[in-house]
Amino acid sequence: RTLEVDLGDRSYPIYIGGDLLKQAGAYFERHGLTKKSPVLIVTDKNVAPLHLHKVEASLQASGYRTVCHIVEAGEPSKSLAVFEQVMTTAIENGLDRKSSVVALGGGVVGDLAGFVAASYMRGVTFVQMPTTILAHDSSVGGKVAVNHRLAKNMIGAFYQPEMVLYDVNSLQTLPDREVRAGLSEMVKHGLIWDEPFANWCGDNCDKLLALDADALEYGLIQGCGIKAKVVATDEREQGLRAILNLGHTLGHAIEATGGYGEYLHGEAISIGMAAAALIAVHRGRDASLYEKTIQLLKGFGLPTAMPQHLKEEQLISAMMHDKKFTENKIVFVLPVRIGEVEIVSDVMLEEVRQVIAELKGEG
Ligand code: NAD
Ligand code: ZN
Repeated sequence: RTLEVDLGDRSYPIYIGGDLLKQAGAYFERHGLTKKSPVLIVTDKNVAPLHLHKVEASLQASGYRTVCHIVEAGEPSKSLAVFEQVMTTAIENGLDRKSSVVALGGGVVGDLAGFVAASYMRGVTFVQMPTTILAHDSSVGGKVAVNHRLAKNMIGAFYQPEMVLYDVNSLQTLPDREVRAGLSEMVKHGLIWDEPFANWCGDNCDKLLALDADALEYGLIQGCGIKAKVVATDEREQGLRAILNLGHTLGHAIEATGGYGEYLHGEAISIGMAAAALIAVHRGRDASLYEKTIQLLKGFGLPTAMPQHLKEEQLISAMMHDKKFTENKIVFVLPVRIGEVEIVSDVMLEEVRQVIAELKGEG
């Protein structure tokens, strides 16, 4: 299946299906990528032994010369230090303006390799080969970045890929916890945009958790499709794109106060989505909105209660650091109903405190 991300002259396709990594060479040829320049594949230590050989073999069989750079798995690889190491590999192996950089892995590798592609010789061809469910979100939309010691995703660019090659079979090797965390963003896409899809996620959580190929393919097509539509409307986050941040305001604070590592991104935003629904209910939405939201998330084994040991003051100060309160007010994405959200700019600090306390009671 092919989805198109519609961005004028920077439009690109997302190919989703089984065994696509083994056809990488054919896709490179279809996109007219030159065989004269080396291709740099960036991946991590977990993904390399599982999936790298497929991409290498396919590209080499089609006549491409490949170079690999394998980073440590995990968020610390999204750093300027690792960025420079990848650049060194690129220069030492003679990558030129016609070269491509491939991101084979999850969002960490995607964000890092994407920023390399955006920067090397002021920009070379970038190809995303996502291998996590979460990466259905991160591989679409063109945000690429590394972290600064003081702040996440601070150093980056908007840089769209030439194509996204999403091999559903590559997801079969994902650890269970990563599966659940990735599905959290899939559910988010239903919650912000598409009630029937949110309901479908709820009805198919067992199949999705079991990595049923048909269910995964359908869910990823819908999830990527929603992300693509939002991004096509607002590439640079002037307005609508902010709806993608449902659950992220508090979610980022949970990640930060958990010291990154205690909670996976998808787990943190699950709690954040529960909190957003509860704030919306306090502001007058029907109580069933909160009930439905947590039922959906719990179906995927995702957390919806606030962990007791996270201190309210720390969460609030992490949020203030991230988003800036003006006169005790903060911008929040709140659900209107399942499948629709609104961006509200007057959520009071007090409302957030209240919900943190209530969600601790749920734990
Ligand atoms: P990740 O890349 O760290 O992958 C999660 C873990 O799964 C890693 O340990 C990885 O080695 C392992 N893994 C990956 N694929 C595997 C496979 N097929 N089999 C077995 N193990 C596999 O994390 P992620 O959750 O994919 O992405 C998180 C990152 O994405 C964060 O840095 C976040 O900031 C970023 N992100 C970016 C955007 C964006 O728009 N650019 C959006 C959302 C998230
Ligand atoms: Zn996210």
